[in-house]
Amino acid sequence: MPQAYEASLAGWGNHPRLRCVVTRPERRRELQRVLDARGTLGRGLGRSYGDAALNDRGTVIDMTGLDRYLAFDEERGELRVEAGASLRQIIDDFAPRGFFPRIVPGTKFVTVGGSIANDVHGKAHHVDGCISESVVDLDLLLADGSVRRCSRDENAELFWATVGGMGLTGLVLAATLRLRRIETTYFRQKAIRVGNLEEMVAALDEHDRQHRYSVAWVDPMAKGERLGRGVLTVGDPASLEDLPAAKRYKARAVSPPSPLVVPLEMPSFALNSTTVRLLDVVIEQMQAGAGALAHYEKFFFPLDFVGEWWRGYGPKGFIQYQFVIPLDDGLRRMRGILERIVASDQVPFLNVLKKFGKANPAPLSFPFEGYTLAIDFPVRPGLGELTRDLDARVLDAGGRLYLGKDSMMDAATMAAMYPRLEEWRAVKKSVDPDGVFTSNLARRVGLA
Ligand SMILES: Cc1cc2nc3c(=O)[nH]c(=O)nc-3n(C[C@H](O)[C@H](O)[C@H](O)COP(=O)(O)OP(=O)(O)OC[C@H]3O[C@@H](n4cnc5c(N)ncnc54)[C@H](O)[C@@H]3O)c2cc1C
Repeated sequence: MPQAYEASLAGWGNHPRLRCVVTRPERRRELQRVLDARGTLGRGLGRSYGDAALNDRGTVIDMTGLDRYLAFDEERGELRVEAGASLRQIIDDFAPRGFFPRIVPGTKFVTVGGSIANDVHGKAHHVDGCISESVVDLDLLLADGSVRRCSRDENAELFWATVGGMGLTGLVLAATLRLRRIETTYFRQKAIRVGNLEEMVAALDEHDRQHRYSVAWVDPMAKGERLGRGVLTVGDPASLEDLPAAKRYKARAVSPPSPLVVPLEMPSFALNSTTVRLLDVVIEQMQAGAGALAHYEKFFFPLDFVGEWWRGYGPKGFIQYQFVIPLDDGLRRMRGILERIVASDQVPFLNVLKKFGKANPAPLSFPFEGYTLAIDFPVRPGLGELTRDLDARVLDAGGRLYLGKDSMMDAATMAAMYPRLEEWRAVKKSVDPDGVFTSNLARRVGLA
């Protein structure tokens, strides 16, 4: 039986930070015994930004001790793995053998279970969809201690309620993931500078048809005619012939851990409009000046280069505000939202814009066909007022927020943004009538 201990936990944004009772089982059979009827939550690597993986004064089960490979079907490229395994671990072990996760978010330090609970998306959503597209099946530990295998054909309703279900239907114990065959761990890429939002949207529309991966950095400070200016980066997997001779003998190289870590929390005043402007110049140069060939580490996970970088935002932490709005009238709506942000006295940083493809059948999965923007804001007085105003604009545009990033939205906004919430609640009630699985996010937005 694993020891339980009290710990101060936060998501990646370090806001909020709460005391939880943590256990870290290493065997499946231990899990039944640590389920706490007064409220339990699974947690992966804590890369959700807000309170999705927090349970104030309640039990949090750290799933990272369950990280074993259970089976690998090389012919089909299907890996059966425990839910606490990280994408980093899978890449390190399987990329040299010619396999890579089909969908990866902007960090590799996420677990399989956490990625399923948020139904994470990557730079290829318009082609590949979310991680659920690559989940063949999953084993779910329910509140009554039983285990149910879920897939598109077996317990399908529960499968779709678990995908994007924020850990609230049960604990994902293991999943079968379909991996992608790769010739190399490199990507061909191209950076396109764009002068304003109209050009950015036109560039996304044009290049998404030609490339598997696309993502844009948008200058968070640009105003007026330059509003929405930035750099669009598009790319595709590199074949062996695409590599220069010197790289071919190590075509499927994986990267060693980065030695760089932000050692201390920066003071709150360190990130202000002047320092952000300076950092933005550096980021823009890096984006625009990127070479034609990039290793997956730089291509998918540039932010992983510096460990614990959340400390750079200071002790009060930060939020990431990510929303999606429909394509229809999307340009005008996006312009209104960006104008509101630049006119505020907050300090927006690291704006990332993407175009999503079609939604999948999961009632709480975030992406649908539209434009998505993610913006970091250090937590400062007045931020709540701004996000409430942005929520209203996103809602009015027919859009919604990403629960995996959120820490501010209220239950009424949630219900309005996710019209299939009742459908999800009915499935939750059928498998967890007493609400054993809960979290701060669940209680805040009405999922508990
Ligand atoms: C730098 C950075 C870049 C990112 N880029 C993207 C991106 O491009 N796209 C994107 O979609 N997301 C992105 N994210 C968010 C991140 O991918 C998700 O929040 C992911 O779910 C985190 O996984 P985790 O293992 O850390 O889960 P945690 O944050 O620990 O938990 C997330 C949720 O999963 C639940 N959970 C965890 N394990 C289990 C389990 N075994 N069974 C049931 N529920 C479980 C938790 O209860 C919680 O609700 C990014 C995050 C960072 C820090």
